[in-house]
Amino acid sequence: MPWASNGAGAATSDRAMIAARLLFNVTIFFPALISMPWATKADRGMNSAKPFWEKPLSSLDRGEWEALCDGCGRCCLHKLEDDDTGELFPTNVACKLLDRRMGQCTDYPNRKKLVSDCVKLDPHKLNELEWLPATCAYRLRWEGKPLFEWHYLISGSRETVHEAGQSTRGWTISEVDAGDLEWHLVDKPL
Ligand code: SF4
Repeated sequence: MPWASNGAGAATSDRAMIAARLLFNVTIFFPALISMPWATKADRGMNSAKPFWEKPLSSLDRGEWEALCDGCGRCCLHKLEDDDTGELFPTNVACKLLDRRMGQCTDYPNRKKLVSDCVKLDPHKLNELEWLPATCAYRLRWEGKPLFEWHYLISGSRETVHEAGQSTRGWTISEVDAGDLEWHLVDKPL
């Protein structure tokens, strides 16, 4: 972990931190939490042989794609990358735009202006997005795995992702208040 043991001076340390700092935000979950245009589609999915969340990602329409997000908000947490190995390590530090209690972006329309490296998640990028949490619905489905029971599409409640401890609620801090990221490494999966 070169960022944790680097004692070569502030300038070197700062460069290392800048190089190591990753900031991700994902564009698909916020609209999904504002309205539910896919509800009809979900209902329709329930009545067909397979609900849409069990189908291949490539077959989903836009509403279904957006509806797949569980609202955990964890893609908006900073990660640190080992300069030597490229390994990613999670922190509890959230993007300044994240409502950490609700797992939502607070300025979705302007996020790209305010956070230049905010990432738009789309079906063509999933194999590049190893930084997504292992529990992320997109990652799960891309890997051919089922959603967890706490996903709202399974449970029927938007609260279950929080109750299951899978969201940013209760253990994260805003980057506005956090200070150096290296003090915020957490013993959790990404
Ligand atoms: S990590 Fe995945 S499921 Fe969670 S908010 Fe981000 S895109 Fe949605």
